[in-house]
Amino acid sequence: MAAGENQSWQELLSQSLQSLDCPSEFSSIVSKLASGEPLSREDGHFLFTTRDLDTLGNIANLVKQSRFADSAFFNVNVHINQTNICTLACKFCAFRRGRRAPDAYQLDIDEYIEDLRKYSSHVDEVHSVGGLHPEWDVDHYSSLFSRVKNEFPEIHIKALTAVEIKHIANLSNLSIRETLSTLKNSGLGSLPGGGAEILDDDVRAIICRGKESSAEYLDIHRTAHQLDIPTNCTMLFGTIESIDQRITHLLKLRDLQSETNGFQCFVPYPFLPDDSRLPEAQLATGSEILRVIAVSRLMLNNIPHIKAYRMNIGDEIAELALQFGADDIDGTVQKESIMHLAGSNAPLDHDKNELAKIVLNSGSSPVQRNTTYTSFEKYIIPKAPERRNLPMASGD
Ligand code: SF4
Repeated sequence: MAAGENQSWQELLSQSLQSLDCPSEFSSIVSKLASGEPLSREDGHFLFTTRDLDTLGNIANLVKQSRFADSAFFNVNVHINQTNICTLACKFCAFRRGRRAPDAYQLDIDEYIEDLRKYSSHVDEVHSVGGLHPEWDVDHYSSLFSRVKNEFPEIHIKALTAVEIKHIANLSNLSIRETLSTLKNSGLGSLPGGGAEILDDDVRAIICRGKESSAEYLDIHRTAHQLDIPTNCTMLFGTIESIDQRITHLLKLRDLQSETNGFQCFVPYPFLPDDSRLPEAQLATGSEILRVIAVSRLMLNNIPHIKAYRMNIGDEIAELALQFGADDIDGTVQKESIMHLAGSNAPLDHDKNELAKIVLNSGSSPVQRNTTYTSFEKYIIPKAPERRNLPMASGD
């Protein structure tokens, strides 16, 4: 099973869509999905604007069910954000600090290892992203990853977004390929997809001036895929982008995937606005988040997994997202600062059982996976000790 997927999912989907009774305005989209034809920009517009969210969600869920039946995947990881010192100042970012800020921090290699040690007995992945540190070059990260692999050989390192790779390459006077290759040899296992924001340079010029361009983001991921480093991809929505720019974003990711097949998972997440950052941005509503999940599932027919990032969208919406086309939910994150500084109030220390309950409440079955979707195990919540039933007072 590639990526945990039913191999004859397309056939299954065609059968299920045949018996689907849905409004006629969805007919051409349904027949494209049934035949495996990718949806067009116009289809994307229709899906982003239709008022019939129920039908959209139903179709997205059918696609998810055909690919993965009732499985919903998660892994057990810890997020360690190695530094919040950053040479850039993206408008939407509540995490970065200037070097002299009183709460600026940088974990040296020993501190990072000691942090990871606290979680090492029960996680199989460390997810590390951070600011663009003015001095940490490829040698720093190579030493860090080698130490991690030396101390915790079983832990997969998923680290560094595309802009961090670009920054490290620049600091080290190396090409992107040389940088990625050196980091891979030191233990880097995969790249998270962060930093894609919206792959449209007009939007990027406003919300994250100075970050990598759309083409650079795609090129860094392309190079990683060519070096057999799997990656994820993301979309930050609800800042200032138009629907057309969202669709452009999805189509660019789909095009790269058809070239390299190196994206494992797509993670859409809404901007969590506050008064100080991007006041012109609008808070994405619950239905907007569910719509983006469903549209992503339908437009990105060649990216297997769509993730509900509960750290950002919260447990309630994450549960619904699993009924709107998502098949993956972010793992039992033990420690995370970026989304929390940006306003998320999802509880930390959420253990496997709590996560499994969200999955069960959505009508799916929890399946624990590894980072690269090559090993899977059904997760069964251990039985709680039986409660003693005490007699109730009669009330009168
Ligand atoms: S989003 Fe990343 S690159 Fe931009 S300011 Fe924040 S930490 Fe720096």
